[in-house]
Amino acid sequence: MTGHYSNHSCPFCSDTVRSSVFYNRADNLAIYNIAPVLPGHSLVIPRKHILSIAEFTDQELSEFFITARNTLKIIMKAFHSEAFDWSLQEKPEAGQTIEHLHLHIVPRIMGDLERLGDWYPLLQKNDAGFIDSMNRPRLPAGELSKIVLMLRDVADRENH
Ligand SMILES: [Zn+2]
Repeated sequence: MTGHYSNHSCPFCSDTVRSSVFYNRADNLAIYNIAPVLPGHSLVIPRKHILSIAEFTDQELSEFFITARNTLKIIMKAFHSEAFDWSLQEKPEAGQTIEHLHLHIVPRIMGDLERLGDWYPLLQKNDAGFIDSMNRPRLPAGELSKIVLMLRDVADRENH
C-alpha cells in the first residue's frame, strides 16, 4: 500500500517527513513531532492522504490503531511514561490545520504543565506551526535526529 502520496502541498505527504519516522508499517507511520509540545510528542499518520477516520475501511481502521498502540508502547519505553493525552481533530472547525489525518500522542508526567489542560492550546499552536515554519519553536536538527534514532532503536527491539 505504499505510494498513495497524493497531495504535494501536504507536509505529511512530503519526503521531508521521512527523517522523523521512527516506526513504519505498511499503511501507517509514526513520526516524532518536529516541534513537540512536551517530550515524546509523536504523531501517527496513514500513508494515504485522507482527511477523516470515516474514510477508513474496517481493515484500515484496525491497522491504524494497531500502529497507534505499538507507537504508544515505544513511547512508553523510550520516555518512561505511563500517562498520555491523545488528540485527533477532523476538519478546520474542530482545529485540524493539516488536512491529512493525524493522531497526536503526548506523554504526560505530573506537574509538566501549570494546568492539566494546557497541552491543548499548545497543540493547536503547534499544528499551525507545521505549516508556517517561521512561527514554531523547532527542535534543532541534531537533537531531532538523536531522538528519532533512539526511538527507531526501541521500535526495533520491540520487534513490531
Ligand atoms: Zn498528505
